[in-house]
Amino acid sequence: MNIMNKLESIKNHDLTALENINNYIKIIDKNNSKINAFLDINEEEAIKTAENIDQKIKNGEQTGDLAGLVIAIKSNINVEDFKISAASKTLETYNGSFDATVIQRIKKEDGIIVGMTNMDEFAAGSSTETSYFGQTENPAAPGRIPGGSSGGSAAAIAAKMCDLSLGSDTGGSIRNPASHCGVIGFKPTYGLVSRQGLLDLAMSFDQIGPFANDTSGIALMMDAIAGFDERECTTIEWDVPQFKDINENSQNLLKGIKVGIVEQFMEVSDDHIVNIIEGSIDKMVEMGAELVELSFDHIDLCLPTYYLINYVEFFSATRKYDGRKYGYKIEDVCGEEVLRRIHMGSYISQKEYSGKYYKKALQARSLIRNEMKKLLRDVDVIAGPTVPKLPHKLGKSLDTMDMYAYDVLTVIANLAGIPAASMPSGEVKGIPVGLQIQAKPLEDEKIIHLMKVMESMD
Ligand code: GLN
Repeated sequence: MNIMNKLESIKNHDLTALENINNYIKIIDKNNSKINAFLDINEEEAIKTAENIDQKIKNGEQTGDLAGLVIAIKSNINVEDFKISAASKTLETYNGSFDATVIQRIKKEDGIIVGMTNMDEFAAGSSTETSYFGQTENPAAPGRIPGGSSGGSAAAIAAKMCDLSLGSDTGGSIRNPASHCGVIGFKPTYGLVSRQGLLDLAMSFDQIGPFANDTSGIALMMDAIAGFDERECTTIEWDVPQFKDINENSQNLLKGIKVGIVEQFMEVSDDHIVNIIEGSIDKMVEMGAELVELSFDHIDLCLPTYYLINYVEFFSATRKYDGRKYGYKIEDVCGEEVLRRIHMGSYISQKEYSGKYYKKALQARSLIRNEMKKLLRDVDVIAGPTVPKLPHKLGKSLDTMDMYAYDVLTVIANLAGIPAASMPSGEVKGIPVGLQIQAKPLEDEKIIHLMKVMESMD
């Protein structure tokens, strides 16, 4: 059932919130041991919340915009009384002691939080294989990785274990698993959604955002979580549009919209993926879009720039995991990738090396940001592949550079602070391929509009 119809049914009591959560709990009980999308479920609490919502509806009281929808949260976002482990042994024993701003807002809108999802340890990865609690299986391509780092949140949507979920995206961690699992994932403009209560990976890149099976779900969640937060200094004071009011029912759906196609984004991607993406682009043209060919000169700089900055910021963020206040000392118990970032970050942060690496990375970041700004000046959106290659088979070990190579097309939006989404474009041998759409800062609604139109043509 489409999410707007479901909301209506719950409001009319055709489907109760309790039935909704119970249906999902049944699916989770049946399939989670194989898929491993969830690390922690709080059935009792979820049922209590559902019963309260049903009661409110019965009494004719006003309910929130997410009333009765079942929501899963990535394990690096604080939710009171849930296990906020960041999929690391370091925080194995930590239970959330407060609600992050996004969680407060979801609860205010009567969303039902069912549990915490699997992820790469501290969100440092692209496959969800580095979780201390085991890998997640891709429900849309069994036997393959779901992508990462928010692999559990994407898999939970793909396996129909919840209505909506939240992830975090530092260099692609929402869009990459959305692409591999055949769902929609949205990374808002940096500063549009509060990061308060999110465990940092790299704070100048991190954004929280939603996953859903349809664009209306993305819009509903964005309406709930976006907006200024006085507790978080990077949030933007801005009149956020009502994303759920954006609709596709106008004539000449995309008439006059300019869609940029970047030559280099296609060149670095597998041919099979490019074929699928070209199909989506043809569809945009049929609906009235005008294509503009663009060239991006700095593609080779993107991964080194992103990872150098990521190492330095992550090293600094992890200094609080010293085993004194909570959990274990991170270096004593963490996995190989997290340790690599801590060591590299510590090295690059030293005074004598920072000029050589970190400062150069910051300069390169400005260059990339300016270049993207320039390209976006002439178009409404840029469209292309989300991930340049298909997800590998579980159990296959990749070297570090091959793992980082998954991120080349997604880190750009984080380096530039712009909004970006991935939506299903098609399949290669049964494996989902995502179409990435990027726009100017604070033009998140253009992406949502375009996705709605594309979806309405299916
Ligand atoms: N794969 C990228 C990394 O390892 C992105 C991770 C993310 O967005 N959290 O840093």
